[in-house]
Amino acid sequence: MTARGLVVVATPIGNLDDLAPRAVAALRAAQAIACEDTRHSQALMARFGIGTPLLAYHEHNERELAPRLVERMRAGDCIALVSDAGTPLVSDPGFRLVAAAHAAGVPVSTVPGACAAIAALSVSGLPCDRFAFEGFLPPKQAARRERLRALAAEPRTLVFYESRHRIAESLADAAAVLGGERRGTLCRELTKLHETVLPATLAELAARVAADPEQQLGEIVLVVEGAADAAAEAARLREGERVYALLAQDLPPGRAAKIASAITGAPRNALYRGDG
Ligand code: SAM
Repeated sequence: MTARGLVVVATPIGNLDDLAPRAVAALRAAQAIACEDTRHSQALMARFGIGTPLLAYHEHNERELAPRLVERMRAGDCIALVSDAGTPLVSDPGFRLVAAAHAAGVPVSTVPGACAAIAALSVSGLPCDRFAFEGFLPPKQAARRERLRALAAEPRTLVFYESRHRIAESLADAAAVLGGERRGTLCRELTKLHETVLPATLAELAARVAADPEQQLGEIVLVVEGAADAAAEAARLREGERVYALLAQDLPPGRAAKIASAITGAPRNALYRGDG
């Protein structure tokens, strides 16, 4: 493999067998591997017999180290960039180095692979044609709820990384702010022994995770259905009202609303408010 410039290499998010052969070749061919935690990455390198020197590149030293690495690459070295898991730069360090390499005219190439956000989306059962990756929600409740409120009308599928320490609170807030009926999929420990993919409403997920500490373990991605398109929702409601009016001629209002809601998808309580 010809090794030039900066190579951004994805590594597994759990199952080491997911490391691509091209990633192994790129890591072997580089003169150095910039990684978040040398001890953590050493285990991966040892497993694949990769002897390339590792150097620590993380949020605390990237400002100072990025220009030095760019100088090395300008002088002819190839540097591979990895993170602890998955795709570097995705909620991980590396942005400064990639930007500095571009600015210096150093070639930047990719060896793509695992990314927890994309893996979660692909198993979520929610639309993947348009999505918004939101990274981690703020740890404090007030800021978290404010962020969720700002996203409440977002029609794209939402993808959040979440810590096991906060997943129960975040799900409760998501259900409260976005609506308990909205669908979500909790994706936990992907590619690992305890991989769990739980599709449900946000209210159900919040209750399930609060009641079952096992669902609060490991690494988690929460995928949330986007807000219903306002125009489509209004059309569904109009159709629901039309069907309800027809059914209510022969059925008790509660029953008519239930059937009209099942036929049209309009919310039952918007059709029948106990006025019949
Ligand atoms: N760069 C990584 C990527 O491409 O996915 C993400 C790094 S971010 C610091 C770590 C977060 O990713 C975890 O807190 C969790 O939300 C998510 N994550 C990583 N591995 C995961 C896995 N195997 N299953 C579920 N979520 C995972």
